[in-house]
Amino acid sequence: MKRRDFMTATALGTTALALSGCHRPPKEEHNGATNVVTKKRVTLKLATSWPAHFPIMGTGVEYFAKRCAELSAGSLEIKIYPKNILVPALQVFDACSATQIDAFHSGVYYWKGKNSAFSIFGGMPLGLTSEEMITWLKFGGGYELWRELYAKFNLYPLIGGTTGPQMGGWFKKEIQTLSDLQGLKMRIPGLGGEVMKRLGITPILLPAGEIYTSLERGTIDATEWVGPALDSMMGFSKVAKYYYTGWHEPGSILEITFNKARWEKLSDTHQAVITVASEEMTNTMLQEFRYKNAKALQELPKDVTIKSFSQEIIYAAKAALDEVIHDESKKNQDFKRVFQSYDSFFRLNKYYDDISTRNFLNIRA
Ligand code: CA
Repeated sequence: MKRRDFMTATALGTTALALSGCHRPPKEEHNGATNVVTKKRVTLKLATSWPAHFPIMGTGVEYFAKRCAELSAGSLEIKIYPKNILVPALQVFDACSATQIDAFHSGVYYWKGKNSAFSIFGGMPLGLTSEEMITWLKFGGGYELWRELYAKFNLYPLIGGTTGPQMGGWFKKEIQTLSDLQGLKMRIPGLGGEVMKRLGITPILLPAGEIYTSLERGTIDATEWVGPALDSMMGFSKVAKYYYTGWHEPGSILEITFNKARWEKLSDTHQAVITVASEEMTNTMLQEFRYKNAKALQELPKDVTIKSFSQEIIYAAKAALDEVIHDESKKNQDFKRVFQSYDSFFRLNKYYDDISTRNFLNIRA
């Protein structure tokens, strides 16, 4: 790793200390005679699961890197490697765990094969929204569990953005009853896919580049992706005319995860800079999704019909989800423990949210 020493003015050291939010002296050497701080410049290699400049997610991590440089007065460089440049898109977890890279930006649900409990940190069907997920992670014990379980892989996770509520997906034909779902092939990953499988759908995993063609040619009958902004860019409205509202990804969380040994070697200041930048990036991404989704929804072609799944389908999805949770909790103690924490916050929050936000939205409507 490339490192070189360089000199920065005292003012920058002061800013960095203020950002670290702690009263311990910084690890940087202080040269009192010339009143300057000697700092090591640190460069970290971060690989992503997205193509370069991929809208919102790819540009989001670029924003994070830019803010790390700014907030550290140039002493912390995050070098971004888009998917397949250093490591394949879905091998970033293993590469970071094995110290081939310092960090990665990806989606938590990709790693449920490592430990099914990880899928909970990425968000659950019919569960917490983005803002609620962040609250659970920060205040409800989520982060402690996530960090404990990732430590077994020599990893240290931070929230790396969130999508807001995702849409339920694009279907070529109208879906009214459970029988309309039987035998359909749908691109849908994660726990949502697991639930859909129990409702009679065949969930298919496809890389982003193959979804449109598969839908156009009829290799798949339906697909979910993210929300109106990114879905419009994919062109799904040209080949599927029924757009369903969401239930399966109400608040998916992305991650910026560091190699734990590498993280622990960073100065307090750099750790604080990264933490602040990841929070800022998360908020910015959520706002960007909201704004761009709102605009894109208005601009959908007129021949697209927006619908919600029937009560029959949502009730069946809830029952199937309860089965999945029950089965996983029996198989995996980690899943059981993480779900208990998630669920206890879910209940606490729901009572409050029903009285506050839900009532307000009803009044406002
Ligand atoms: Ca999705």
